[in-house]
Amino acid sequence: MNYISTRGSSKKCSASEAIVKGISDDGGLFVPSSFPILEGRFLEELLDLDYPSRAAKILALFLEDFSPAELEKYCRLAYSRFDGDPCPVVKIEDDLFVLELFGGPTCAFKDMALTLLPHLLAAAKKKLGIDDRTLVLTATSGDTGKAALEGFKDAEGISVLVFYPSEGVSKIQRVQMTSQQGGNVSVVGIKGNFDDAQRAVKSAFADENLRARLKKQGFELSSANSINLGRLIPQVAYYVSAYCDLANSGEIDMGEKINFAVPSGNFGNALACFYAYKMGLPINKIVVATNANNVLAQVFNDGIYNVKRVFYKTMSPSMDILVPSNFERLVFEVVGRDSEAVKELYLKLQTEGSFEIDAEALRAGVFEAGWADEEETKDAIFNYFDIDDYVFDTHTAVAASVYNEYSCETEDDTPTVIAATASPFKFAPSVLSALGIKEKDAFKAINKLQLATALECPYALSSLAHAEERFKDVISADEIEEAVLKFAIAQREEKE
Ligand SMILES: *Cc1c(COP(=O)(O)O)cnc(C)c1O
Repeated sequence: MNYISTRGSSKKCSASEAIVKGISDDGGLFVPSSFPILEGRFLEELLDLDYPSRAAKILALFLEDFSPAELEKYCRLAYSRFDGDPCPVVKIEDDLFVLELFGGPTCAFKDMALTLLPHLLAAAKKKLGIDDRTLVLTATSGDTGKAALEGFKDAEGISVLVFYPSEGVSKIQRVQMTSQQGGNVSVVGIKGNFDDAQRAVKSAFADENLRARLKKQGFELSSANSINLGRLIPQVAYYVSAYCDLANSGEIDMGEKINFAVPSGNFGNALACFYAYKMGLPINKIVVATNANNVLAQVFNDGIYNVKRVFYKTMSPSMDILVPSNFERLVFEVVGRDSEAVKELYLKLQTEGSFEIDAEALRAGVFEAGWADEEETKDAIFNYFDIDDYVFDTHTAVAASVYNEYSCETEDDTPTVIAATASPFKFAPSVLSALGIKEKDAFKAINKLQLATALECPYALSSLAHAEERFKDVISADEIEEAVLKFAIAQREEKE
């Protein structure tokens, strides 16, 4: 399997190169040159395996320059950081299930990929004979940052610098990041929202002068953002695994189609579901759900991709994103894998802030999309707790709300799996308020949420109440190059 760029599909590279680079030199994203197909008895053969082995088998279809034994080893290491099954499927109603993806070290689904990415990146560097230190630069809307810090903490030959929007993350998210331990990490706030942070990081990547100066310090840049192929491919695995779990428990027959509902921000999670569909996983609909920052909901419904819009701060901050980077990968498929057409559209986006695309072609017979405002999100949390005794976090509740509306409108009764992306305790004040209890203090809210729901808060979150915040810098977006260089120099000095 080779990889090509969405903006220059003639040049091919290996999975290792794509993982090390993060983003293609031409500014495009790496995509597989074709989709592997789940052939013959592939799915049946996964049924008896545990998650690490299932994931390794699926990864092997995409990452051909990694041996199956190697992938098995990395998956075992990564998913040993989860308590029990890394992604259990929980039944909450007849034909309605929740795929819990938040059992990892940072209590959000980003762990599913970011516990694995460091192993893939370190191995990829070895395969390519790269001795330089890797500087992983990451912009986060709140959850990626912490998951990257945990994943890469003390990783050999790798340093991590995370930028978060100073006003855009929950208190728990911020303390999770700023209290991070490890000698190879740092965290800096950027004044503005996630898109400002993401744009700043992208400009650092595009800055040849900065790259040259980093090179002098012995550093290559890489990214842990969800545009990295090493993030995307591990996410394909849990959709396949969820299907196997439903088949195993007799909830569906092998070959029967199911729906997935996915809360979406940067569109990595839902795109991974689409990749599973392209591989032949029996999927009826992928319901893409956004909050009031609904650029995706709009483009799927009327074909207008317009990122020039008001930014809303919502109770689902990890989805407060106006420019969903991974959407480019779907555009690439929709325009018939024509990289010139993608280039043209994204040039238009850069100059005009929007482009149009045929909405029906975009839905490809599989996507449905909608959005939930704050009231609807709260209602979903309240109602599903009231009726099903299940507590959604604020992000997953967006998907539950949009799915609920979809199923009422269409009367589609296909068995449906909601991808649950965070522990409700990570957003305790908002979840609690949806249940009708006001408590602004994040840690008091955690206690009250435990009492209200009889659930236990993961220790990784409750222990933050006493954590010391190590990293306090907040800079403006145009100071990012300087901050990157400063960190690189400090890291080099530390390692010498
Ligand atoms: C990142 C994140 C999302 C959005 O996922 P994308 O892959 O960016 O679409 C949703 N919920 C939570 C809790 C997240 O951390």
